[in-house]
Amino acid sequence: MVLERDAEAPPAGAEEIWGTWQRKGVNQFRLPHFFLARYRDLLDSELPEVKKGLVGAGAVCLNPVLDAPEEIRGSARQEDGAFDCISGRRCVVEAAVASVADRAAGLEIRRGTAVAGLVTGPSAHDGVPHVTGVRLSTGEELTADLVVDMTGRRSHLPRWLEAIGAQAPRDELDDCGFVYYGRHFRSADGTIPPALGGFLMHLGTISALTLPADNGTWSVTLVTSAKDKALRLLRDAAIWEKAVRSLPLVAHWLDGKPIDDRVIALAGIEDRHRNLMVGGVPVATGVVAAGDAWACSNPSVGRGASIGMLQAVALRDTIAATGLDDPWEFACSFHHATAEMVEPWYRETLAADRHRLAEIDALIAGSEYRPRDPGWEMSQALAAAAFKDAECFRGFVSNAMLLNRVADVAARPGLLDKVTALGAGRRDEPVPAPSRGELLSIVVGD
Ligand SMILES: Cc1cc2nc3c(=O)[nH]c(=O)nc-3n(C[C@H](O)[C@H](O)[C@H](O)COP(=O)(O)OP(=O)(O)OC[C@H]3O[C@@H](n4cnc5c(N)ncnc54)[C@H](O)[C@@H]3O)c2cc1C
Repeated sequence: MVLERDAEAPPAGAEEIWGTWQRKGVNQFRLPHFFLARYRDLLDSELPEVKKGLVGAGAVCLNPVLDAPEEIRGSARQEDGAFDCISGRRCVVEAAVASVADRAAGLEIRRGTAVAGLVTGPSAHDGVPHVTGVRLSTGEELTADLVVDMTGRRSHLPRWLEAIGAQAPRDELDDCGFVYYGRHFRSADGTIPPALGGFLMHLGTISALTLPADNGTWSVTLVTSAKDKALRLLRDAAIWEKAVRSLPLVAHWLDGKPIDDRVIALAGIEDRHRNLMVGGVPVATGVVAAGDAWACSNPSVGRGASIGMLQAVALRDTIAATGLDDPWEFACSFHHATAEMVEPWYRETLAADRHRLAEIDALIAGSEYRPRDPGWEMSQALAAAAFKDAECFRGFVSNAMLLNRVADVAARPGLLDKVTALGAGRRDEPVPAPSRGELLSIVVGD
């Protein structure tokens, strides 16, 4: 059974969905999203009906390797199909998932139903509460073999656990430190502008995200550090547009009709990882956290939905392998499966975010960012080498698409040498963007 606090089911049709579907429970509902090749791969293997629904709803199908100029990617290869993506505006993708869930045999979805707490039964292990269901805001109690908290970034699980006398989970929490200023556009003829420099480009003290979506729509987002007060003026649509126009690889993404009436800004997004095993002991049995309720990080790399799907597969497989008869064993097994298969992606993302924020700080201060971290140096050299060598390009894209970790890419025969050679001069390469001073005069004015 799925319990969803928001009452409205999705209407039919992409434009109805975009224009009218209210989802107060998801802050980022109308903010730009992109769904990575790993997400498409998981749809193919686990949820082909969702993919079919997405195609029917006008989702964009693209391949960031095959769509790149031949001088960058070299000849097409059979294995390049691994980079296929299917994407769309978040609400359109979510409606496709919801429609398949609605038809799934044995699955009951109760919308307009808010969970308010946990219900317990006899402990499966001394001193550790065992969850046997949930209590709704109406006071109604529902029993469950397993409660999966998927209430997102603002999950109240710690409070609910405290109320049943459980030890507090170990939360690592930090503001992710970025602010997003985004808008969606539509072309008159259904085409989408070409990506001239990748979907995510770090351009000095700002980053630009240009994301193709469904039905001839796309989004353009500027990402800044939350500490960068001067750039908060990017909330103003005219100033935002001037800033986007100043970016030679991005400006052409403005050649469409805006489909939202303003710049949508989002700040205060936290990086959070929640560990329900403290000192090797589950804080409770019969309950787990998944998706953003388990861990969430900087969204500009577009990994959240794919990481959530990976964890959902790990959950399904753990239930199949371990069963739920021994709640303690299940809690430990799911924790280990998550730690092994999912958490490394979260950690990699977090490390990259911390470096990027520190890099922005350094650039604002007018200095060069030179951390002594070989992992960061490797990922930056790989990004620089990507546009000079077909192998490096595929390695870079496969990491960006959540297919391979940077360390696995680096381990490919001969790749490290190439990356080292081709990425060596990256700090001297010109950035296709205004200098910090020029950006400030565009945004703040002279
Ligand atoms: C600005 C931004 C941009 C992003 N861009 C991307 C992207 O490009 N690609 C990508 O893959 N990811 C992106 N993400 C991340 C992605 O949105 C999340 O990873 C994803 O939505 C997590 O799914 P979830 O189901 O765990 O949580 P959510 O999508 O947050 O869903 C949680 C659900 O729980 C419901 N709920 C909450 N409390 C209760 C309750 N008490 N009872 C019942 N129901 C409740 C809510 O109504 C909501 O429907 C972005 C995130 C942000 C903030």
